[in-house]
Amino acid sequence: MDPFTKAIHADKDLSEGADVAPAIRPSTTFLEDTGRRYRRDSHETTERFEAVLGSLEGGHAVCFSSGMAAAAAALSFFHPDRMAVGDVYHGVRVLAESLAAAGDVVFADRSELKEGDVEWVETPSNPKCYITDLVATAEENRARGVITIVDSTFATPVLMNPLAFGVDVVLHSVTKAIGGHSDAHAGALVVSDGSVASKIRDQRSFTGAVPGSLDVWLALRGIRTLPLRVERSTSTAGKVAAWAHGRGLQTYYPGLASHPGHEIARTQMSGFGSMLALDVGSAAEASRVVRAVHLFTNATSLGGVESLIEHRIVSDPAMDPGLMRISIGLEDPDDLIADLEQAL
Ligand code: PLP
Repeated sequence: MDPFTKAIHADKDLSEGADVAPAIRPSTTFLEDTGRRYRRDSHETTERFEAVLGSLEGGHAVCFSSGMAAAAAALSFFHPDRMAVGDVYHGVRVLAESLAAAGDVVFADRSELKEGDVEWVETPSNPKCYITDLVATAEENRARGVITIVDSTFATPVLMNPLAFGVDVVLHSVTKAIGGHSDAHAGALVVSDGSVASKIRDQRSFTGAVPGSLDVWLALRGIRTLPLRVERSTSTAGKVAAWAHGRGLQTYYPGLASHPGHEIARTQMSGFGSMLALDVGSAAEASRVVRAVHLFTNATSLGGVESLIEHRIVSDPAMDPGLMRISIGLEDPDDLIADLEQAL
């Protein structure tokens, strides 16, 4: 089935009522002898969301209360001795640093990893959209028994399916494009093997990071339109990036031939995504521009229907001072370009 069809139908057999639209189910406990007991163990809406995401990603999904909860769950489940961390979301870097400071894991170069260790990859990476060759990475790691975890939040399951390249675990911040409306907080891990997914789900019952019932309902509602939104925002991002590059701005977007990851992105993604970054040279100028726009909203996060712009150093103090991260939403591309032009 095509992603457009999967997004609508993959959970069809899991509906427990007569409703055409999924019901919001806030109950934390269920009648005995009905097949359900307690929401932390199992919940209809969570299972339906997992069925759709798993189908889109080509694996078995386990949903968590946030992307960071999914990241923490992955590290706790695989519990590596050593971990290689590349260019990743700063929250994941801080989590890994805190584990290392507590003596739970040792940072290592990927060449030093051994069986049971983890390489954490993010592609496209946040915020400069650097690209990692997943086929080569997964092949090298498999040969050594190293677990490859890929944060695929920027790509979404519509544009890339890392499990098909031999990757062991895919992570999504569902809060972003999958939820798609900046109103649901959730995360997910996706694996190929259903028995591994069951073990991760069992562990989730006791670590407790299950999604809230409204959040997962919103995520399920959001994922229905994911393919449509990704198609639209990706097309617009390509236009905005081409305009910015043509205007002489330092532009980070994997769809541009000038981007260092362009050729690999072409082989492993079916589109280049809705995220880009522009460097306007100084912190003062970036700070001014993010306040001078009218259509873009000056806020962190990404993947919503509204376009967002952020002076990235505010979220990630290690970032280049003049870098603005942009998440393209569903507005008209020419209106967005005109807004950036007047602000610059
Ligand atoms: N991964 C990436 C690439 C992100 O951008 C984020 C959040 O910004 C996360 C993971 C964490 O997700 P959450 O905010 O849902 O915990």
